[in-house]
Amino acid sequence: MSFDYDLFVIGGGSGGVRAARVAAAEGARVGLAEESRMGGTCVIRGCVPKKLMVFASGYPGHMADAAAYGWDVTAGGFDWGRFKGQLETELDRLEGVYERLLNNSGVDWVKHRAVVTDAHTVMLDNGESKTAKTILVATGGWPFVPEFPGSDLAVTSNEMFHLEALPKRLLIVGGGYIACEFAGIMNGLGVEVTQFFRGEQILRGFDRETVDLVADQMGKAGIALCPGTNTVSMEKTAEGILVHGTDGSQRVFDLVMFATGRKPNTDSLGLDGAGVEMAPNGAIKVDEFSRTAVPSIYAIGDATDRVNLTPVAIREAMAFVETVFKGNPTAVDHDLIPSAIFTQPEIGTTGLSEEDAVEKGIAVDIYTTSFKAMQSGFAGREERVFMKLIVRKEDDVVIGCHIVAPGAGEMIQLAGIAVKMGATKADFDRTCAVHPTMAEELVTMRNPTRSA
Ligand code: NDP
Repeated sequence: MSFDYDLFVIGGGSGGVRAARVAAAEGARVGLAEESRMGGTCVIRGCVPKKLMVFASGYPGHMADAAAYGWDVTAGGFDWGRFKGQLETELDRLEGVYERLLNNSGVDWVKHRAVVTDAHTVMLDNGESKTAKTILVATGGWPFVPEFPGSDLAVTSNEMFHLEALPKRLLIVGGGYIACEFAGIMNGLGVEVTQFFRGEQILRGFDRETVDLVADQMGKAGIALCPGTNTVSMEKTAEGILVHGTDGSQRVFDLVMFATGRKPNTDSLGLDGAGVEMAPNGAIKVDEFSRTAVPSIYAIGDATDRVNLTPVAIREAMAFVETVFKGNPTAVDHDLIPSAIFTQPEIGTTGLSEEDAVEKGIAVDIYTTSFKAMQSGFAGREERVFMKLIVRKEDDVVIGCHIVAPGAGEMIQLAGIAVKMGATKADFDRTCAVHPTMAEELVTMRNPTRSA
């Protein structure tokens, strides 16, 4: 049977674009459909604009510190419109880069929604059908907002990059990555931020001691953290959005952002009909080679709800091409993935938390250090740095590393190599410190703080 393409990719995000380009470089005839903007969540409405907003929100702190260093500076007002214009220009540029990459690789791409109609066919929303030997679904995820009276008044992270004006009073609902990152961003930009989360602490699942420090500093920076609190209902009033909380409170906000998780973006994609097995939350079920229950259909990235991070989707894309187009079956290694959370202060983390280790019954020594950061300390700020190593007693291997510090994301990328290689605490110890840095403390923790 002859097909229009060797590979048809649905979704032009980080995973889909990488798979399309690399397969095309192997000589495959590749088609790709993207219903929205090329670049997907990470580039258009996620990691990239978020990080630029983190930078923007850090300037008031830098300027305050500058005065202590002898500079004669006064922060003027923040012009959201000017920043937003610059942000949009940058996103247009990046979208263009993605499109050029596809063009230069010879990928035949279209801006249309595509749905799967059978094991080898997709239908575009202009009515055209395309056949392919292999179909790859890389449609990502989409914010989930629970339903309750007035929930339609909420925005999600998708809308935060397009606000006409910054709100004066913002409620963020959720305690995960997105909620906590936006709380810091908006607080830094001068917005009055309240954060509701239903648990007793933010960032459930991360090392608790690490998170406690971050929550403490977020509170000191002026974010009103409300543990054990959810929304009952919301209504529009002349003053703003009136929010009824589970704590009995009634408060008015100008904007309410929900960051209560993301769902695989797989609705009405025709996958069920084609025989692809789905999990109850809409995640596409795949094996270790990202293959679905239909042998000619594969899926990668957030649509499969494995580890929902851009670099993971990219690795899944590379492994898919290796498996299908290079005859070298390659499973993706989802173990010991380092990551950063761009809260303020920032977290870098890899491996097991102390709680994970205890739950798994692994005997560990816990090394911790906490100190005032030199740069901000000089300027009289109370910002604290925290570092923690989880060391397995049995063989001295470092099985977890958690950092709260300016630049923690940069540090954990490097510490992540050592942890992935199976470095022992003795290996950390025999590495000479780089002085004077914050990261040197990672190799100078002599005695365990405790055992667990
Ligand atoms: P998370 O899964 O991290 O957090 C969801 C939050 O919403 C949790 O606090 C959860 O509470 C809460 N929640 C869920 N359902 C409800 C509900 N019905 N009512 C009230 N609260 C609710 O999701 P995010 O949206 O923050 O992020 C999605 C994914 O995006 C992340 O898992 C991550 O993979 C990725 N991401 C990564 C980033 C990074 O690497 N820096 C940055 C941003 C996103 P509870 O804990 O009690 O369940």
